[in-house]
Amino acid sequence: MMKTSISITKVKTTREDIVKELLNTNTDYLHIDMMDGKFVTNTQLLPKEVLSLCDGVDRKLDIHMMVVDPIKYIRELQFMTNINNITIHSEIGNTNYYLECIHSLGFKAGLAINPDTEVNKILQYLDDVDIVLIMGVFPGLGGQEIIPSTINKIKELQELREKYNLSFEIEFDGGVNKETRPMLEGLDTIVSGSYVCLSDDIQSRINELR
Ligand code: ZN
Repeated sequence: MMKTSISITKVKTTREDIVKELLNTNTDYLHIDMMDGKFVTNTQLLPKEVLSLCDGVDRKLDIHMMVVDPIKYIRELQFMTNINNITIHSEIGNTNYYLECIHSLGFKAGLAINPDTEVNKILQYLDDVDIVLIMGVFPGLGGQEIIPSTINKIKELQELREKYNLSFEIEFDGGVNKETRPMLEGLDTIVSGSYVCLSDDIQSRINELR
């Protein structure tokens, strides 16, 4: 069974309400899509908002930093008690430094790859990361369709994990819904936003994704 990580970006009413609703489901994680207006053009879920929405809530946080300078964001969140992992993007460089910083604070570290970043670009980090996050769409906007070539990366990463006896988890983010779910076998964790959060029965959508 796959774990679910539900993004609180696309909501019917307010983010406070969707967090409350999700806490009444059995989703494994709340997925926090932070954007700095530089790595992507949008700005959302800056540390102050993340702290006020999610600090200490009874669910683990899967924090996805779409930012060019993660250190200041990591510092502002470092005392949160319910962080499972902090995931940074491989495209920003300095990967070893950021992974070390995240690990030194006691969090799991994830590494995300955009649709145009090949798996072989992150080979050297695979034994240092706890999670590889495959982006199925270019980050920045919700509700896009999966770019088909990104799906092949699941198998590619599974094979590498097996071949080198590694233990990272594989997570997929972007374009996930009932139609695309069957193509996404082999994941450890599946991220979904609008498909779950815009529905009237979020628990049943979570069940479908599992
Ligand atoms: Zn995300």
